[in-house]
Amino acid sequence: MSLIQRDRASLWHPYAPASGNLPLWEVEEADGVTLRLRDEDGGRHEVLDAMSSWWSVIHGYRNPLLDAAAKRQLGTFSHVMFGGLTHGPAVELAERLVAMAPSAEGRPRLERVFLADSGSISVEVALKLAVQFQTAAGRPKRQRFLSIRGGYHGDTFAAMGVCDPVDGMHSAFPGLLAANVFAPRPPAAATATAEDIRQWRADVEALASKHSDELAAIIAEPVLQGAGGMFVYPAECVRVLREIADHHGLLLILDEIATGFGRTGELFAADHAGVVPDIMCVGKALTGGYLSLAAMLCTGEVAETVSRGAAGALLHGPTFMGNPLACAVANASLGIIDGGAWRSDVARVGAGLAAGLASARELDAVKDVRTIGAVGVIELRETVDVAAVTRAAVAHGVWVRPFRNLVYAMPPYISTAAEAGAMAAGMVAAVAEVHDERDAGLLTGARP
Ligand SMILES: *Cc1c(COP(=O)(O)O)cnc(C)c1O
Repeated sequence: MSLIQRDRASLWHPYAPASGNLPLWEVEEADGVTLRLRDEDGGRHEVLDAMSSWWSVIHGYRNPLLDAAAKRQLGTFSHVMFGGLTHGPAVELAERLVAMAPSAEGRPRLERVFLADSGSISVEVALKLAVQFQTAAGRPKRQRFLSIRGGYHGDTFAAMGVCDPVDGMHSAFPGLLAANVFAPRPPAAATATAEDIRQWRADVEALASKHSDELAAIIAEPVLQGAGGMFVYPAECVRVLREIADHHGLLLILDEIATGFGRTGELFAADHAGVVPDIMCVGKALTGGYLSLAAMLCTGEVAETVSRGAAGALLHGPTFMGNPLACAVANASLGIIDGGAWRSDVARVGAGLAAGLASARELDAVKDVRTIGAVGVIELRETVDVAAVTRAAVAHGVWVRPFRNLVYAMPPYISTAAEAGAMAAGMVAAVAEVHDERDAGLLTGARP
């Protein structure tokens, strides 16, 4: 049996049925921005990874600095419990995160860090913390959340409960998800007028006002909604959320798990708006895609209020909390970020994507093309044929994982302009071949 056949016999894949014939490739090697794949028939393909392995591998595969950090820590200790013990990698990581977190004059700083083992868990902890904060502050009825339609915050139960109520997984678990309050999606950045933003503010304000005595916090992905639709909205709307939260005594939780560490062109997407949240979640790119690690940061006031409450503690503590190996690699990754080259890297990758994706606008199947930072999105008029587009992209030397009606790229920051351009060209060619046969004829005819 081939490895792929053995996989099919015993493994689950993300959001997939137990058995079926969805295409699957074996990774034989990964290096820089390249994956070396083997298909089910044994054929080999070298592809540029336009996904950064779900947005995490920002410095590329087998990065020498991250490899060295992991090896150094392996030679010391790989894991110790975090109850009653501490270690250098965790302390250094907390200090690094606090130093780089969004800040503004006159606003309390994010200065306390909870290390979690995945993004969803950091969101769980953020939601728990917000409820514990309100209870400790004498407002125990505040147990719900105001979220935004089109949002995605993870797959655990509380996190699912603040994801988009229609496109999220609410309908599969009726009765198990908390009844939260959902504001409309903000207007699209590309077309939003001052009047659109004013109207949206009025809608959110009305909801916050109606439910203020039962709401603990507002939760949102700033500026870019990721897995909920790769949707870009104006930074002004993040300021609106900050003002409404302040006005109604709600905490503002910003989920930077997808957007953190430079992806949108600022270090954090909240920096586009100059907004400092009360609670922030980071994950995905935190370890440069080497190991699973996430973090929740909060202000000193939130941390102290919760610690003075009846519970006397933040009620969470994962077994692998503060895993030293993951923290050591995260420190190396954040060390690269601190070097500052990410800003020009992200600009270069973004420019390469924008130039390469421009021709997609001419395809009949394409509804919209948008970019922000090192993110490039082709939105189709119909649901993507994921299997066919993935296969076509692999044939063009690019690894993508489309979803819903979106084919997008979030390449590693180390991608050259030419590699970003090649990723975009592969995406456009795959969309044209699968979804736009007429243009496919033109495109392939124009190619040697
Ligand atoms: C991926 C993601 C999560 C969940 O992170 P996991 O590590 O997959 O649990 C939460 N929020 C946002 C914005 C994400 O992109």
